[in-house]
Amino acid sequence: MIILRLENISKTFGTLKVLNAINWEIHQGEFMVLVGPSGCGKTTLLNVILGILEPDNGNIYFENQSLIDIPIEKRNIGFVPQDFGLFPHLSVYKNIIYGLKIRKLMQKADSRVKDLISILKLDGLEERKPNQLSWGQKQRAALARALAFNPTLLLLDEPMSAIDWRTREEILKEIKDIQTNLRITTVYVTHNMQEALELGQRVTIMHEGRFEQCDPPEILLKNPKTPFVTYFLSRYKA
Ligand code: ADP
Ligand code: MG
Repeated sequence: MIILRLENISKTFGTLKVLNAINWEIHQGEFMVLVGPSGCGKTTLLNVILGILEPDNGNIYFENQSLIDIPIEKRNIGFVPQDFGLFPHLSVYKNIIYGLKIRKLMQKADSRVKDLISILKLDGLEERKPNQLSWGQKQRAALARALAFNPTLLLLDEPMSAIDWRTREEILKEIKDIQTNLRITTVYVTHNMQEALELGQRVTIMHEGRFEQCDPPEILLKNPKTPFVTYFLSRYKA
């Protein structure tokens, strides 16, 4: 089943065409990776899906409903921005419950937050402020906040961009475990081809506002369809 469908989405900033006729289908439960060089339009695309930015044209369907004209807080989409976006003045607990508050989902909110604190191994850190957390703890708090209202889709923007390689392996495994356990449809954005091939059930390769190819890793490796895909993969192999 298709959970998210983009049809012909374009977005221009001034004279810069940042998204150029994007078509995309995300299947329920899948782990999709969106990979491309810095500046190719990945974050802009996430912002369009979230409703932070309006596309110039095209359509978005989410759970078979058009998303155009649906405000951000009515879109059932969890998001972890690149800098995590935790509120510095709020505790871990209050950061996590925030998404439930703005959606007026306060019934059973306390037990939902406590479940997430346990799933994401944040026990004992409930009263800490973000600046009293390690990088990994901050990331897990941001994930808990994104998952609190039980979204049907989770968007992660470059979650590994500022982390050393060893911690990276641990956190990659954690993200994958969480996705498997909660069976939540996930779009994971990165500029790192290795990460993309390790994590993605399917991988979409983006370049200068266009999608070049969207396939499972083994097919990308066996059958790259465009010169850019061949080039991007060769950098990974080197
Ligand atoms: P990525 O996430 O792949 O690194 P972005 O989507 O952030 O790429 O940016 C794509 C291009 O759009 C870049 O050239 C960037 O400078 C430009 N851009 C992004 N946001 C804006 C904006 N609000 N106004 C003007 N240009 C923007
Ligand atoms: Mg970005």
